[in-house]
This record gives sequence, C-alpha cells and structure tokens, in this order.
Amino acid sequence: MGTNDVTNRVDEKDKETLNLLTSTQIVIHDALKKLGYNEELFELLKEPLRMVHVRIPVRMDDGSTKVFTGFRAQHNDAIGPTMGGVRFHPRVDVDEVKALSMWMSMKCGIADLPFGGGKGAILCNPRTLSFGELERLSRGYVRAISQIVGPTKDIPAPDMYTNSQIMAWMLDEYSRFRKYDSPGFITGKPLVLGGSEGREKAGAAGVTICIEEAAKKRGIRIQGARIIVQGFGNAGSYIAKFMHERGAKIIGISDVYGALYNPDGLNINYLLDRRDSFGTVTSLFEGAITNKELLEHDCDVLVPAAIANQITAENASNIRARIVVEAANGPTTLEATRILSERGILLVPDVLAGAGGVTVSYFEWVQNNQGYYWSEEEVAERLRKKLVNSFNQIYDISQSRNIDMRLAAYMVGVGKMAEASLLRGWV
Ligand code: NAD
Repeated sequence: MGTNDVTNRVDEKDKETLNLLTSTQIVIHDALKKLGYNEELFELLKEPLRMVHVRIPVRMDDGSTKVFTGFRAQHNDAIGPTMGGVRFHPRVDVDEVKALSMWMSMKCGIADLPFGGGKGAILCNPRTLSFGELERLSRGYVRAISQIVGPTKDIPAPDMYTNSQIMAWMLDEYSRFRKYDSPGFITGKPLVLGGSEGREKAGAAGVTICIEEAAKKRGIRIQGARIIVQGFGNAGSYIAKFMHERGAKIIGISDVYGALYNPDGLNINYLLDRRDSFGTVTSLFEGAITNKELLEHDCDVLVPAAIANQITAENASNIRARIVVEAANGPTTLEATRILSERGILLVPDVLAGAGGVTVSYFEWVQNNQGYYWSEEEVAERLRKKLVNSFNQIYDISQSRNIDMRLAAYMVGVGKMAEASLLRGWV
C-alpha cells in the first residue's frame, strides 16, 4: 500500500473507524512529512520489516494436542535490536500486532533508547489454561521464534495477560536451547532471575511523571489537583495510588461496570483494598454513574487507563478536563485528538505517557549486560530524568510548530529511526 492509498483510505472512511494499523500509519506519515523525509522512507517504515507467524503444538493436560497460533513482529532494527512485549489474548489480529510493534518503535525513539520496536502475541485464552499448559505454551513459543530473537536481536517482555512467571519460563527455554545463561534475552523477569527493581510499576510511574510535567505547563499544582482515572486495573489503580500519595484529589475512578465520583475526593486506599484482581470495584457501591458520565465531569486531569477509543468525535466536545494523559493504548481517536487540541486541552499521547515500561525494560537489559544491579531509587531517578527530557522535548516541538503533542511525539519517535535507516543506505 503506498501513501496515496493511505490518504485515500482516510478520505473515504470516517477516521473513527480506521483500524489501529492505518491510524498509526497516518501519524507516522504526517510525522515524516513534517521532518522533510520522502515517501520512500514511509514505504520502509509503514509496516514491520519482519512478521513471523508460528504454529505451536502444546500437549494439554488431558493428553490431547492443541495447536496455537503466535506472531512476532519486528518493526525496524536500524538503531539496534527490537524490543517489545508478548501478549496472550483470544482476539489479536496480524494488523494489531504490526501496529503495536510500530508503537513500540515510537516509544523507544521518544525515550531515546537504542532499540526499534517489536511485539508478539499468542492467540489463546490464558484463563482457560492450567499452569502446566501455560508453561508448555510459553516454552513452545520461544522454541518457535528462537531463530529471530535474542539479547542482541529482539528482546521480549510482558504485555497483556503475561507476567514475570511467563518471562521466567521463556528465559529458561531460551537458555536451554542456546546452552548458555542469557538473562538479557527477555525483560520483566522475577528479581532473582535478573529482573529490575521498579519494572512492575514502571508503566504507571511513567504516566505519573507525565501528569506532573503537564500540570506544570498548565500552572496546576499537584497538591489538591482534581484527577479522574478511567480503569482501575494494573495501570489505573497504580496511577490513582501514586497521584493520591503526591497529594492530588482522585475525584473519579471507573471499571467495566461503572464509575464512582466524589468532588471532595474518593478514599483511594479503601478502594484499592476492595478492588479484585480484574480491576473491578464499583459494583460494591451504591450510586455508581456510567463511564460516559465520568469522562465528561469537570476535572484538572483526565487519565483514560482502560481500553481504546474512549474519547471520540462524539464526546470530545464534552470533555471538561484541562489535561488528558493517555495511560491506555489508543484511548483517543485521531478526530477526537483534533477536537481536544482545537479546544486548547493539553493531550499527552500514549506513546509518550506509556513509555515508562519499555524504558525500565531497557534498564533491565543494561543491568543484565553489565551484571550489576541498581536500587529502586536509582531506577526511579533514571526513569524520571529520561521521561522529563522526552516530555519537554515533545512539548517544545508542539509549541514551536503549533501541532498537537501526538504528532510531535511521533516526529521524535520516528526521527532517529529514519535517520539511521538512511545512513545504513536502506533507502
Ligand atoms: P487491566 O485488565 O488490569 O485493567 C483494565 C481496567 O479497565 C479494569 O478496571 C476494567 O474493569 C476496566 N475496563 C475494561 N473495560 C472497560 C470499559 N469498557 N470501560 C471502562 N473501564 C473498562 O488492564 P491494565 O493492565 O490496567 O491496562 C489498561 C490499559 O493501559 C491498556 O491499554 C494497557 O495496554 C495500558 N497499560 C498502560 C500502562 C501504563 O502505565 N501506561 C501499563 C500497563 C498497561
């Protein structure tokens, strides 16, 4: 598909219905254009360089064999090895994995990491698999992709429904296969196997840093700032906790069943205690409102931390936040981004706000390579330094070029990769 095809597709279709890959291609195309690069470079970067499709036979507990489908996408390795999570999910398609690897490239570029983006997935419902079946599936996936991954090739990490135990099995399988210990093959490992302090909370910590920086730009004091967080799972609950600890007032939270709102501030510690492992809590309380109502309440900072496409052309005009910080992937459509931007609402895009996880994955890889481990404080401080720099660089570009922060973030994200690809003579 050439650029014109992309542009035509945008013209033909309502932007709201474009899939993840197409909308990512549109912003990458705009970013390359702003940077003065030609269409050939877009041709190179509009899809991953490599997309591997594997079939994984797994012996099930009942003795039968089930064959699972998996993917690994490697967007671009002009700067260095690719890096990115592996998700276990019953509904993932090829385009989504490609787009997610491209998002990882943007995050690596934004945080100035020596990597390109990668992403993997296995089509499965992990809730229906036993511990043993999960282990055999994780090991089978590593065997299937072992030729294209490695500490200097492509480094996996946890993602949706994968965790440090799954990383440990994958590490063990890789080490057995290669016949040497190789902790830098994968990140998000348990501490005892070479994991990094602060990795689990890194995503939420990155969002928190972005909220603080954005608040400074709008002259909002964190002490007493009114914050609404949509989603109370791994990301949302930690973000609410961190902001509460910094003195902000969490006036709204939500989960899949509804939302809780109190203009005087919710009792976050109590809600964290009552939350179940699926990130749900609202059904325990009387007077819950809907997610739609919550998003449209007046607040200083709105943090969508649940699922994609929550702020769309339909409700963007009703958003009353002064700042929106995207903790989830893709919560705001391109059309809604334009509307919020025209209304003067500062939108901190997912590729910047969500760069904390991959940044600490990079720190974990560095620690594995040097065999010397940092304290939690050192990790937190290095993360803060990197993301504060990235935030301010992107904010300054958005101000000086009069563009929204999403486009500015993509310019930073894609810029070095484009330069490296040209220098290598790929285009
Ligand atoms: P999770 O499954 O732990 O939690 C999801 C939360 O969203 C739950 O509270 C769930 O009830 C709620 N939810 C689900 N459907 C909803 C709906 N229709 N309306 C409102 N709420 C709904 O997931 P998670 O790990 O917290 O990830 C959430 C998002 O954040 C994903 O996009 C993920 O990729 C991203 N993420 C971001 C970070 C980060 O810090 N930036 C870290 C991890 C994950």
